[in-house]
Amino acid sequence: MLQINQFPCLSDNYGFLVHDPASGATATIDTPDAAEILRQAQAKGWRISDVWNTHWHPDHAGGNAAIKAATGAVVTGPAEVERIGTAPDRIVVEGETIALGSAEARVLDVGGHTLGHIAYVFDAENVAFVGDALFALGCGRLFEGTPQQMWTSLQKIAALPDAATLYCAHEYTQANARFAVTVDPNNAALAARVAEIDRLRATGQPTVPMTLRTEKETNPFLRAPQLKAPLGLAGAADWEAFAEVRKRKDTFKG
Ligand code: ZN
Ligand code: FE
Repeated sequence: MLQINQFPCLSDNYGFLVHDPASGATATIDTPDAAEILRQAQAKGWRISDVWNTHWHPDHAGGNAAIKAATGAVVTGPAEVERIGTAPDRIVVEGETIALGSAEARVLDVGGHTLGHIAYVFDAENVAFVGDALFALGCGRLFEGTPQQMWTSLQKIAALPDAATLYCAHEYTQANARFAVTVDPNNAALAARVAEIDRLRATGQPTVPMTLRTEKETNPFLRAPQLKAPLGLAGAADWEAFAEVRKRKDTFKG
């Protein structure tokens, strides 16, 4: 049974420590803030054995060297992580399964935000770490990939069980909600969720993690195919509807 410690760091990132009590193995998912990650591990009495990166951005891999120096952790990630300075000790690609003690995670290629972005899926625990690919009510900006690529990536996440728990790397949910209601104004589930999000944030509580079921019902990026008519794209391909939602979000002044 995995234990997960989630904590806020930097301005709007989340750090995650994943701990396998049977073996003592502990992975930090990305390294947004090395000092805070080390503090959190110490407070739990966990020794960080692994760094698992989702993509190369500095708020995800920028603390790799400091964590490795402090703990001797093995760095696992996509090849693109070398762009921040040091190549991972172990480069992984889609289809590989990696162990954290007695637990196993499957690697998904979810490129689009960056070309090499990956996600880690613990199938037995029904938990996925999706980095900056999918957010609560949002998705990552397309800094490097194409809308087709990102749509394909999001469909891989959407293919997980509806009850899957998704851990994304940023607390962007309230801003995402302000946009979501503009493209999906008649969605009662979305309206109810926005009220719940506002309640959580008013008391400083996280909106992460979320379930895939909730995202499927309310995330306008996953719902792009159902929004074709109101987007004026009846007859368009699903990825084209997704591209339109992404484009509108990029220019949204909320
Ligand atoms: Zn990023
Ligand atoms: Fe990020």
